[in-house]
Amino acid sequence: MDGLLIGPATRRQALFASVCAFAILLTLALAAPHARDALPGIAPFMPMCALTVFTTSSIAAFLLGARFAATRVAMLAALGGAYAFTAITVALQLLMFPGVFGRTGLLGALPHSAAWMWVFWHAGFPALVIVAELVRKRLPAPPFARERLDARGWLLIAGPAAVAALLGVLVTHVDLASPFRDVASAVPTAALSPASAIANNLAGLVICALNLIAIALVLLKGRLRLVLDLWIVVALLASLVDAALNTLSIERFTVGWYVARVFSMFAPGVLVCVLVWEVTALYRQLAQDHATLIRASARDALTRVYNRSYFDEQFHQAFERAARSGQPLSLVMLDVDHFKPYNDAFGHLHGDACLGAVAGALAATLASAPHAPGGFVARYGGEEFALVLPDTGADEAAALAEGARAAVEQLGIPSPAAGGLVTVSAGCATRDAIVASSPNALIEAADAALYAAKHAGRNRVSHTGASIA
Ligand code: GH3
Ligand code: MG
Ligand code: MG
Repeated sequence: MDGLLIGPATRRQALFASVCAFAILLTLALAAPHARDALPGIAPFMPMCALTVFTTSSIAAFLLGARFAATRVAMLAALGGAYAFTAITVALQLLMFPGVFGRTGLLGALPHSAAWMWVFWHAGFPALVIVAELVRKRLPAPPFARERLDARGWLLIAGPAAVAALLGVLVTHVDLASPFRDVASAVPTAALSPASAIANNLAGLVICALNLIAIALVLLKGRLRLVLDLWIVVALLASLVDAALNTLSIERFTVGWYVARVFSMFAPGVLVCVLVWEVTALYRQLAQDHATLIRASARDALTRVYNRSYFDEQFHQAFERAARSGQPLSLVMLDVDHFKPYNDAFGHLHGDACLGAVAGALAATLASAPHAPGGFVARYGGEEFALVLPDTGADEAAALAEGARAAVEQLGIPSPAAGGLVTVSAGCATRDAIVASSPNALIEAADAALYAAKHAGRNRVSHTGASIA
C-alpha cells in the first residue's frame, strides 16, 4: 500500500492543483504592481506567520518522515528534510529577530543574523527540493539494501535540520554584512525604482532562481504524474511568489511584504493539508475494506447466504435480546430431502448448484415475509439451513416455514427421489416468552421437529408445541 501521495495523480487532483497554481500566480500578478505600497503596520503579524511556518513545517517533516518509514521511498525523507530545515531556520529567525523576544534578538543575535536566517530559510527549501529530486531515482528501491536505505533516509531528514542549526551558530558568531544590498547601503527600497530594487536584492534573485530550478526539475523528473509532484510544485510556486514579492519590497508592512508572509505560510501548509487528507482517505479506505471483509467473512461461499459462524454469533445474540425483551424468537431448521441420491444421480457440481438455488428460494421467502424484520437465512451445514426469526411467534414462524417449503418445491428442480422434485423438510421451534431457555435448547427443539417432519414423510413442516426449557 504505497498510499495516495506517491500514487498517480487523477485528473481531478491535477485540476485542483492547477487551480491553486493559477490562484497563486494571479495573486502575484495583482500584488506585484503594489508591492511597495505601505499598509498599516501590524507588529505581531511577522511572529504569528513565523510561528505558523514553524508549526506546519514541523508537522510536514514529521508526516513525511512517517511516510518514509512506511514506504522506504527516499524522496519522502529528502522532502521531510527540506521541511525540517525550514522549521529550524524559521524558528531561529524568529528568535533572532530584533524586537520580538528582545530588543536586539535572542541567542546573541548580530545585526544581520535574522536577515541571514531568512535567506537560508528561503533558499534552503528549494535547494533541498532539488536534492530530493536528485535522490528520486538514485537510492535503491525497496526491498534492496533496506538497512542502508534506512540510515540514509533518516540522514536526509536529520542532516538538513543539523545544517540549519549550524547556520544559526554561524550567523550569531560571524558578523556578516547584510544579505540585501539596498539595506546595506541604507537606501530605502521605496526610494528605488522596482528594477533597481530587484537588482539590489541579489539574495532575493538567487532564491527566485532556486525556486524556478526546483520547479523545472520536478516538472522534468516527475512530469506531474504523482500526487506529490503536483503539490510540491504548488508549494514551490508559493515559495517563489513569497521570494519574488520580497525581492520587490523588503520593506516591512507593505503590500508585497504582507502577501509574501501569507505565501510563506502556504508553502508548508499545502503539503500538511495533502498529507492529512491522505491519512483521512487511507483511513476511509481501510474502514470500507474492513467492512467488506467482515461482510464477506459472514457469507457462505457456495450459497451466498450467511455462514455457520455468523449463525452461531448472531443466533446467540438474538436469543439474549429475546430473553431480555421477552419477545418471541423462532428458529426454523430445514434439510434438503434425499439429497444424497440427488448427488449420486447428477454429481456434486449439480448438487452445489441445487443448494445455491434452494438457499436463494429461502432468502427470497424471508425477504418477502412481512413479519421478519432482522431475520436471516444461514447455511447450518451440508444441505441444512436455518431461518432465524426474531420477534416472530410460533404461528408466524410455521407460516414462513411453509412458505419456504413451497418456494423450494416451486423451483421445480428434478430429483431422482420419489416425488420427482427437490424438496425440503422443516422443523420450527419458538422460544417461549415466559420460560427461560438456552440457545442450544432451541436448536435441539427445532432439530427434533425437523426429524419429526422427515419421519412423517418429508416435504413438510413440523413444529414443537411445548415451551423450550
Ligand atoms: P434426508 O432426506 O434424510 O435428509 O436424506 P439425505 O440424502 O439428504 O441425507 P444424507 O445426510 O444421507 O445426505 C446428505 C448429503 O448432502 C450427503 C452429502 O454428499 C450432501 N452434501 C452435503 N454438503 C454438500 C455440498 O456442499 N455439496 C453437495 N453437492 N452435496 C453436499
Ligand atoms: Mg442433513
Ligand atoms: Mg437431507
